[in-house]
Amino acid sequence: MRKKVDIAIVGGGVVGFAIARELAMSYPEKKVFVVEKNAYGGMETSARNSGVLHSGIHQNPNFLKSKLAVSGSLKAVKYAKEKNIPLLDSGMLIVVSFRAFRNGLYREILDLFRLMRSARKQGIEIKFVTRRSIKKLAPNIKALVGIFIPAVWVISQGEFVRALELDALRNGAVAFFNSEVTSIEKLEEVYGIHMSGGNILDAEVVINAAGLYADDVAHMAGFDGYTIYPWRGEYYEIVGEKRNLVRRLVYPAVSKKSPSKGIHFSPRTDGRLFIGPNARSVPAKDYYEEDKTPVEVFLKHAIKYLPCLTKDDLVWAYSGIRAKITPDAEESDFIINVDSISPTFVNLIGIESPGLASAMAIAEYVHELLKTAR
Ligand SMILES: Cc1cc2nc3c(=O)[nH]c(=O)nc-3n(C[C@H](O)[C@H](O)[C@H](O)COP(=O)(O)OP(=O)(O)OC[C@H]3O[C@@H](n4cnc5c(N)ncnc54)[C@H](O)[C@@H]3O)c2cc1C
Repeated sequence: MRKKVDIAIVGGGVVGFAIARELAMSYPEKKVFVVEKNAYGGMETSARNSGVLHSGIHQNPNFLKSKLAVSGSLKAVKYAKEKNIPLLDSGMLIVVSFRAFRNGLYREILDLFRLMRSARKQGIEIKFVTRRSIKKLAPNIKALVGIFIPAVWVISQGEFVRALELDALRNGAVAFFNSEVTSIEKLEEVYGIHMSGGNILDAEVVINAAGLYADDVAHMAGFDGYTIYPWRGEYYEIVGEKRNLVRRLVYPAVSKKSPSKGIHFSPRTDGRLFIGPNARSVPAKDYYEEDKTPVEVFLKHAIKYLPCLTKDDLVWAYSGIRAKITPDAEESDFIINVDSISPTFVNLIGIESPGLASAMAIAEYVHELLKTAR
């Protein structure tokens, strides 16, 4: 089959389906297609994260991703309430441990102050909390001081993606599953998107939302300047009765140079509790299960705040892989570029955290870019 379409979106993760929904709703007369290599949407990074709708506090306030996280989170919360998507009104505690105090305290307090400054700059509501208020917010967490950000939620990632997908399809979008994009040819007025199985879509507008593989998809279309470096984040689950000991997001205060927001207590909407993720460079984009970080490493972090935990309370859970655009731990911004105007090709590269929180705002941003580019 060779079919002419208006818009082809490569990748049916949270970002691809948020964009499909936005464009299908805005342009009912246009044919919007999503091409996804897996059997369902949202099976890759969109399912392998912490599900946090972030406030933007951890990002460089000057970055696009920080602005998109703030507006995207608010949109996602409103959307979740409308669609009955499970949501945990958790707030986020960022705390300094007693152990840090015994070891000289200095670094973690400075990191906490940096985050407070970042919050003020972005107008994010925070409260400075002492040991006593921490006890009220998270009775089992042992920490000296911290900050509390009320406007942070945890969403059911799977149901979020499914709702976006359903909305996109209801508004006329079409999804091709089990269809991997294998090559892309630039023709005069369209890009020819070749899929496994031999089908071809000729699209006037292509949006590359292929997550970890967005650099490969960009290269297929001749945009060679992008490289994605896979960085894994692993999770252990707290099982048994101790899973009920923490019902809020509790993060450590980490340095600006940290490749992640730190190993945190990560409660979910279904009542489960995880700790993670760490951050380590891995040799392949599907390196999910090999060479697992030992449980002792996670336990060492967690007992600083929850001393009653033991190794037996922790079970390996899963990992997710960040689509980093730098080979080292350096923080970078989302890249969302219109790299060709006619035919149009939009590349979304390095959509790592807070990509889930930002998805609906990314969709609006891409829509605006298309309006001005064409
Ligand atoms: C450990 C970890 C924790 C995180 N925690 C959070 C968090 O708490 N909050 C938050 O906001 N963000 C978080 N993130 C980031 C968030 O998960 C991602 O930013 C987001 O899921 C990216 O979505 P996506 O749609 O761009 O990518 P994906 O979900 O990876 O979707 C891309 C899709 O493209 C498809 N695809 C790829 N190549 C092809 C091809 N050639 N043909 C067809 N289809 C293709 C894939 O199958 C996939 O389904 C976390 C990430 C990690 C790794």
